[in-house]
Amino acid sequence: MRIAAVEVVVTCPGRNFVTLRITTEDGITGLGDATLNGRELAVEAYLREHVVPLLVGRDASAIEDTWQYLYRGAYWRRGPVTMAAIAAVDTALWDIKARAAGMPLYQLLGGACRVGALAYGHASGRDLPELFDSIRAHLERGFRAIRVQTGIPGLDTVYGVAASAAGGGDRYDYEPARPTALPVEESWDTRAYLRHVPSVFEAVRSEFGPALPLLHDGHHRMTPIEAARLGKALEPYDLFWLEDATPGEDQAALRLIRQHTTTPLAIGEVFNSIHDYTTLLSERLIDYVRSAVTHTGGVTALKKVLDFAAVYGVKSGMHGPTDISPVGMAAALHLDLAVHNFGIQEYMPHTAETLEVFRTSYTFVDGLLHPSDSPGLGVELDVDAAGRFPYRAAYLPVNRLADGTLHDW
Ligand SMILES: [Mg+2]
Repeated sequence: MRIAAVEVVVTCPGRNFVTLRITTEDGITGLGDATLNGRELAVEAYLREHVVPLLVGRDASAIEDTWQYLYRGAYWRRGPVTMAAIAAVDTALWDIKARAAGMPLYQLLGGACRVGALAYGHASGRDLPELFDSIRAHLERGFRAIRVQTGIPGLDTVYGVAASAAGGGDRYDYEPARPTALPVEESWDTRAYLRHVPSVFEAVRSEFGPALPLLHDGHHRMTPIEAARLGKALEPYDLFWLEDATPGEDQAALRLIRQHTTTPLAIGEVFNSIHDYTTLLSERLIDYVRSAVTHTGGVTALKKVLDFAAVYGVKSGMHGPTDISPVGMAAALHLDLAVHNFGIQEYMPHTAETLEVFRTSYTFVDGLLHPSDSPGLGVELDVDAAGRFPYRAAYLPVNRLADGTLHDW
């Protein structure tokens, strides 16, 4: 089963996606997601110029060998651009292998360990009434676990908070990547944030009771001691996790947080290698692995990370914002079903335009996602529809303190 053709498709049905489509000599196609939010064309060029010429004629069934060929063959290892490109190839080859077998991918990964993947949705509000409306709307849509992000008194815009209460309805309307000439500049004040957030969780717990799993994303903005303080302050509200408390590249920072709080910790959405986790896992500094298939070298590589995590009792909590394309989301759902140490899956529904380009078969019923039993990933790419939505440059925001200092966004 040789690879006959490889295409890179860039499309913007509301936001940019980069998709790799591999076709074999016998006409089986496979899809892989290579979307790197805000830096999409770097991966497109990496694939087109450096990877596609290596693939034509290769054995499509040799997935591990192809992974090693691209990883070791580049000499320059790791990095978000390289690993997103490898992820797309790897995912597309798994899609082909499963389609050729006539099975959903999760069967090739060992079969289902559960009936569906518990998903969490994104509730947010600029104030408590908006936040409560957003939580209620998510519960009505079937979510059984909720991420809570809130406006901060004194700050105009805050990460993760929808611009209007309409975001609490069918569609989460917070879209940080914006098609502006330069990145939008937001403002930040960690002390105001630390004063406010515990009171929000106190209010949410008294309104919605003790049972609902609640999550919160710190988005890399705290120092280790600030994060330790927040984790301690949130202990009475029994969070499912506190995510990205500190910048991800400093694994040792988690040691200090861990020494001070029993609030469960999740990190890893900006990681791209198993080597980013060695200290975190072997010292049991985290509880959930946040990596996505799309940004961590594909199904092959993320399965290894999750097996490594399982040794230490650490569970999965894969990144699932809308910049993970439906192809990347489907790949995540197959892994969610197949690994024993599944924890939870982030889920933000895509727009109608996106689902016009990517025809999905995964389902969301009673709070659980299922990838479907269609052969392969269960996603089809409509190339004609993709062509109707050309690429538009968009940037993630940057963040400044009141005195102008650039802070982590
Ligand atoms: Mg996050």
